[in-house]
Amino acid sequence: DQARAPDYLSGLNPEQREAVETVDGPVLVLAGAGTGKTRVLTTRIAHILATGKAFPSQILAVTFTNKAAREMKERIGHLVGGAVEGMPWLGTFHSIGVKLLRRHAELVDLRSDFTILDTDDVVRLIKQIIQAEGLDDKRWPAKQFAQMIDGWKNKGLDPAQIPEGDARAFANGKGRELYIAYQNRLKTLNACDFGDLLLHPIRMFKANPDVLKEYHQRFKYVLVDEYQDTNTAQYMWLRLLAQRPPGVPQNVCCVGDDDQSIYGWRGAEVDNILRFEKDFPGAKVIKLERNYRSTEHILGAAGFLIAHNEGRLGKTLFTDRVDPNDDKVVVHAAWDSEEEARAVGEEIEQLQRNQHPLNNMAILVRASFQMREFEDRFVTLGLNYRVIGGPRFYERLEIRDAMAYFRMVCQPADDLAFERIVNTPKRGLGDTTIRNLHDYARARDIPMLAAAADIIETDELKPKARKALFDVVTDFRRWQSLLETTPHTELAEQILDESGYTAMWQNDKSAEAPGRLENLKELIRSMEAFESLRGFLEHVSLVMDAETNENLDAVSIMTLHSAKGLEFETVFLPGWEEGLFPHQRALDEGGRSGLEEERRLAYVGITRAKRRCHIWFVSNRRIHGLWQSTLPSRFLEELPPAHVEVAEAETSYGGYGRNPYGQSRFDKQEPFQNSYSTPGWKRAQANKTDATRDNWGNRSGHAVERIGYGESGPRAKTIDGE
Ligand code: ATP
Ligand code: MG
Repeated sequence: DQARAPDYLSGLNPEQREAVETVDGPVLVLAGAGTGKTRVLTTRIAHILATGKAFPSQILAVTFTNKAAREMKERIGHLVGGAVEGMPWLGTFHSIGVKLLRRHAELVDLRSDFTILDTDDVVRLIKQIIQAEGLDDKRWPAKQFAQMIDGWKNKGLDPAQIPEGDARAFANGKGRELYIAYQNRLKTLNACDFGDLLLHPIRMFKANPDVLKEYHQRFKYVLVDEYQDTNTAQYMWLRLLAQRPPGVPQNVCCVGDDDQSIYGWRGAEVDNILRFEKDFPGAKVIKLERNYRSTEHILGAAGFLIAHNEGRLGKTLFTDRVDPNDDKVVVHAAWDSEEEARAVGEEIEQLQRNQHPLNNMAILVRASFQMREFEDRFVTLGLNYRVIGGPRFYERLEIRDAMAYFRMVCQPADDLAFERIVNTPKRGLGDTTIRNLHDYARARDIPMLAAAADIIETDELKPKARKALFDVVTDFRRWQSLLETTPHTELAEQILDESGYTAMWQNDKSAEAPGRLENLKELIRSMEAFESLRGFLEHVSLVMDAETNENLDAVSIMTLHSAKGLEFETVFLPGWEEGLFPHQRALDEGGRSGLEEERRLAYVGITRAKRRCHIWFVSNRRIHGLWQSTLPSRFLEELPPAHVEVAEAETSYGGYGRNPYGQSRFDKQEPFQNSYSTPGWKRAQANKTDATRDNWGNRSGHAVERIGYGESGPRAKTIDGE
């Protein structure tokens, strides 16, 4: 009888199924938000495994975050019924890069226990290099040069390859020299930065075709999610690994959405979508058009908004989730960000009373400074929340200090870590001593800790400094000797105690000290999930994802950028004001591209919502400590009235709003509505009586709504191959 399709295939629509089952040859899935691209990738892996086409270790799969990788692994396990053994090559570009490098470090002149530097380390290192060149680091800021290097690395450029103009632009033409000095310094430190996690493997593969061939044989299938946000270096990396000699099928599958390309500012090249068909001839391009995530109102609002961008690839999106009871997208006005946070808090509590779990709600902000207001409010309300992505726990001062100690124990050549903590807590090691030590180490090309061990045998230092340094060296020797024998959480605690670091905060009388001690405790707790200190360090250098207890029912707070790929029942989008969203930087650029990227970000925000989407704008905002009156975002005018409603003047919290001078708005004797009125926006609403005209395309209304995605620009031809 007819063989029944395996369970994991049932429920897929025909296009999804085609994308899953076309496992041989290149495939590009190009489709709008919520059409199941990620689901297709996951199911495709399950299919490859279930049909025995490859072992888990033979699949290379790239996700955008570590969290997404974990979730994907879990989903695959469910689909194939049982835990997936391994999948060692499922991860982000960076985590896979680390893995490749650890295996072949010697091919790029590193040792396999190399350290991964974070931005802060990089800036400090560059500052040293700039100073060593005798340049004024005020005139030529290290931070700026760090960004330049990052930009070059995103483009896959070695020092020899950077454009002349770029090289000339910094430090009176010393750009290239400094880049070279920086790379040399990294080598000496046995360290690399984030860009190197991609560039080193590229260099290694180019210089060692035999090694590349090994990986060609290993990776039978290559898959990439969020393909629209790959940068040039990532694309080069991918092409090296996925391309095969003529005649051999190139089993690569990339999924993406040009409308969700939001990392242009970090070097992402949406044109990689167009290059795909050129670099992988015969690629099958599959489009998914049915959205499974959102209500028609949410989809309608998002589709209408993004249609204001030009030069998009042609796409169609529809849903048959049409329910007259569905809420429209709601736009709310508030006096200031405090009131905005208060009102959002009320809304969340209301939903909670109606049995909606907090896990299903998210607040997506344009800029991370917006988070604090919500965090403060939620703490007051006792609402659980978690902050996802961005600067947080591991970036706090005390955590970075503690990590520097741990890094030194695992990786004694880590001079940056050494310099960070050698006199923290204060040990009477002054700048002069440290500089002596630094020079001594540089002259002999040895790590500073080794230099310290040498120098204490001489009489180069004053007795007090010598004694202090002797203690440091002895401490580290002892901790290193315990590394293999003492449980790592115990050792970590011991290090913080014996070094005097814990005591330093215990004796600190500042208001933050107790919180810092709490954080240190939390740090030790968070290590328990790892097998070794080394494993933990690697985790920390890689995670840009949230680390909060996943089991806690909590509202998520994150930037729009880190919300990519995620979905929530209810989404709150605060801060839709000119200058904040679209962001001032994009407006200052003047050109279209910055603004269009902001609009894509708005599209990403709205399309995260499954059922409810609430947008907020305030009339006054404090930015960098200054009160400013603000205008509603132009994106509000670009929303279709058919799918959007304006919240009634919200009297429940009316009257709490304070103007910048601390008066209630009623003190000013102004009618309530006036302080909120947004004439431009209201006018636009009034004009757009017929929402189904222009961009709406096909059907207007009911059983199935088709939302035509604007005109197919010139690029669409290339993609369609028509
Ligand atoms: P984004 O562009 O935001 O990353 P996406 O295209 O990756 O979105 P998914 O996250 O894979 O979309 O899917 C969106 C939602 O729709 C998920 O909840 C997914 O489980 C669901 N979904 C996808 N395909 C189907 C299907 N055939 N039947 C039912 N639900 C589906
Ligand atoms: Mg996705």
